Amino acid sequence: MNNKHTNITPSKQNSLLRFDKENVWHPYTSMSEPLPSYLVDSAQGVNINLASGEQLIDGMSSWWSVLHGYNHHKLNAALQEQAAKMSHVMFGGLTHQSAITLCEKLINLTPEGLDKVFLSDSGSVSVEVAMKMALQYQHAVAEKNQTNLTKTKLLTVKNGYHGDTFAAMSVCDPVTGMHQIFEQVLMQHYFAPAPSIKFGEQWSNDETIELTALFEQHHSEIAAFIIEPIVQGTGGMRFYHPEYLRACRLLCDKYKVLLIVDEIATGFGRTGKLFACEWAEISPDIMCLGKTLTGGYITLAATLCTTHIAKTISEGAAGCFMHGPTFMGNALACAVANASIDLLFENDWQSQVLAIETTLNSLLKPLAKHERVIDARVLGSIGAIECKQTVNVAQIQKRFVELGVWIRPFGKLIYIIPPLIITTEQLTALVNAITTVLNEDDCFN
Ligand code: PMP
Repeated sequence: MNNKHTNITPSKQNSLLRFDKENVWHPYTSMSEPLPSYLVDSAQGVNINLASGEQLIDGMSSWWSVLHGYNHHKLNAALQEQAAKMSHVMFGGLTHQSAITLCEKLINLTPEGLDKVFLSDSGSVSVEVAMKMALQYQHAVAEKNQTNLTKTKLLTVKNGYHGDTFAAMSVCDPVTGMHQIFEQVLMQHYFAPAPSIKFGEQWSNDETIELTALFEQHHSEIAAFIIEPIVQGTGGMRFYHPEYLRACRLLCDKYKVLLIVDEIATGFGRTGKLFACEWAEISPDIMCLGKTLTGGYITLAATLCTTHIAKTISEGAAGCFMHGPTFMGNALACAVANASIDLLFENDWQSQVLAIETTLNSLLKPLAKHERVIDARVLGSIGAIECKQTVNVAQIQKRFVELGVWIRPFGKLIYIIPPLIITTEQLTALVNAITTVLNEDDCFN
């Protein structure tokens, strides 16, 4: 293939990949038998350019994070302007315009009542921060009321995913979150069944019977309830009924349990609402944001909470919130986040998401009838195919690359969540590639 993308010679490519295979530990990968990695030279718009010459249409947005495409001139300019002033200063005792502007934007855009912002480095850390906030809040409440602290656990639902650090892992699905391996070190929390009524299906109040029973029995021990709003992502791309989330809000209010929504994957338009909890018209007590916050440029996350929570924690015995990451409020990350949020509105994200949804509804949804498929579902810019068999990741990945697309399935799921700037033609190429591999036996186990 004529390689117009790279100056990395074939022998250099081989030596880089050999070192990578021997020494570089990739996510969720064995070091003894690693899955192949493809060497990327550059990325532009919706295209990922491999050093070997192939140009791939990106269906993954680099794990849901890229919104406006790669190598965007406005995002690049925001980084360069900030770097020319300063890339980072410690956030203890110092502050800066990029962080302040970002926090103001987040307060204005998120649901009512979320008025205080804590910036951190990654989605998982923002969940740690949210859990710590909830526990420190309950500690301060018990202290103020001169009662014993009993609210020390969390309640969540099965099939959830909130990150890979230890506190976050303790509220991930017990099976996929590997609770058996880490049983002796993980905090023990309560798990309700996963929501089962799908988005768009008929609602029944029976759906929350077990959840309600858990609240009734254990509320005196429960500090907070944590959930991914509307979309359980890593737990199977499951889209659930907004009434479920509304019921969670009511139960949390009734039993004085804080509601934490993890919008790390769903935030900034992905589901067709700016934040997925808008589908249920609820405001949480604490919200986590990450991934798309910087348009997929640099790691940054935010945990927002109400004034009441912040005040209660701050007036407790500790007198402050006990957390402070070194790279908190990183100026480069805040500057690019500001530019990404501005672009979201300049580009009219709602029309972008609607265009993706319309195409996926007409092209991807009919794949539900394929003999290998259990379900095909679409919500906003997310399209997922649930197969009867698990995929052979190495083989399916190789085929997708041969077909000129970047799609990385897991388990029984082939899903796409492309950058919002994708064209109908590019989206059609993604769905055509999925249709092709569905007909290939060796792509499945
Ligand atoms: N929560 C949700 C819902 C996520 O999808 C993820 C990332 N897949 C995380 C938390 C963790 O974020 P990070 O990978 O940035 O630590």
